Amino acid sequence: MSNATQLIHSIPVDSLTGSISVPIYQTSTFVQDAPGQHKGYDYARSNNPTREVLERTIATLEGGTAASAFASGLAAIDAVVKLLRSGDEILAVDDIYGGAFRLFTHIYEGFGIKVNYVDTTDVANVIDAFTDKTKLVWLETPTNPTLKISDIAAIAAVARSRGALLCVDNTFASPALQQPIKLGADIVVHSATKYLGGHSDLIAGIVVAADAEVGARIRFIQNASGAILSPHDSWLVIRGVETIYLRVKEHSANALKVARFLEDHPAVDKVYYPGLTSHPGHKVASRQQSGGYGGVVSFTLREDTGAAATKVVCATRLFKLAESLGGVKSLLCHPATMTHKSIPAEKRRSAGVADSLVRLSVGLEDAQDLINDIGQALDLLIYGRKNAAAKAPAAAALWL
Ligand SMILES: *Cc1c(COP(=O)(O)O)cnc(C)c1O
Repeated sequence: MSNATQLIHSIPVDSLTGSISVPIYQTSTFVQDAPGQHKGYDYARSNNPTREVLERTIATLEGGTAASAFASGLAAIDAVVKLLRSGDEILAVDDIYGGAFRLFTHIYEGFGIKVNYVDTTDVANVIDAFTDKTKLVWLETPTNPTLKISDIAAIAAVARSRGALLCVDNTFASPALQQPIKLGADIVVHSATKYLGGHSDLIAGIVVAADAEVGARIRFIQNASGAILSPHDSWLVIRGVETIYLRVKEHSANALKVARFLEDHPAVDKVYYPGLTSHPGHKVASRQQSGGYGGVVSFTLREDTGAAATKVVCATRLFKLAESLGGVKSLLCHPATMTHKSIPAEKRRSAGVADSLVRLSVGLEDAQDLINDIGQALDLLIYGRKNAAAKAPAAAALWL
């Protein structure tokens, strides 16, 4: 059976009523027959049947044994860090999601957990940066926003040999393209806000564990800390994830077309997309991902200034200026002043997030319409407003 068929039918039909859609158990508590005698549910922070369907679905999709759904991606990341103790160290990818950087540096370093940021695209750097205190290796691959690729299997082997856990933030690839647990990772986290939900209509996170014991510790932390996903949002993620193979395939096909167009545009300096053979991580990505390279494309401008990037991100009509990614509608953002503004400028630039970097979340519109849109915005940098509009009359007409 294909992955899509398996996924669609792993979401159960309701056994009580035959409802084809998963029921939303909007309840705080569950009635017990006698103290401690219940149907497997006692209090909705600890467990909820709707959330449970989501958790089982994503655990299966990622090839893990257990999953816990959280109120946001950051709540999911937070739960994983809580596996550590004061004095432990995290070895993390340098091009890390800004919110994870803020959490690690500004919250957990205060509790005595040190974080080493390393360019994990080279396994040798990971080996060099390991210390006896390294208990957790934190990867994103592809990274946000420069789409760096790290070799999950090779780094998993290093982590295992040193007795550390490997956690992969799989938000960008999604399980439709990449399953880190099958490559040796111990934990996968997601911002389900992005491709799992897929419709830009909720905030959610999930932790999947390869090992049942780690899964049980995450569940304990979740119940103790309380940042659970609501039944209604759980239902929305279930509905979104049913179409993940279809969506991510199309996001990837559109993104590749947009990336190729950008490579040839005279206003563009570098294009970051792992599906391009020019991308330094193309080979590793092709080995560990399948079905495409995802919907996120980043690029820098020949005129490497925040002002030039601002001009571009304010001139598109179909690509909406907003943080986030992974939805049906295309979005774009300027990481230096938006998603990555909490990272100090020097650290940000040295991780490759240039002042003119623009990140696209390529949606499910027609690829040619998206190309026309980003094309006319880039033309402004070269031809100025008047000529650029004259250059693309058909596209201009569409937006009037
Ligand atoms: C968005 C994002 C997060 C944070 O998730 P929220 O749902 O916004 O809390 C974490 N990691 C990556 C890679 C993300 O893109």
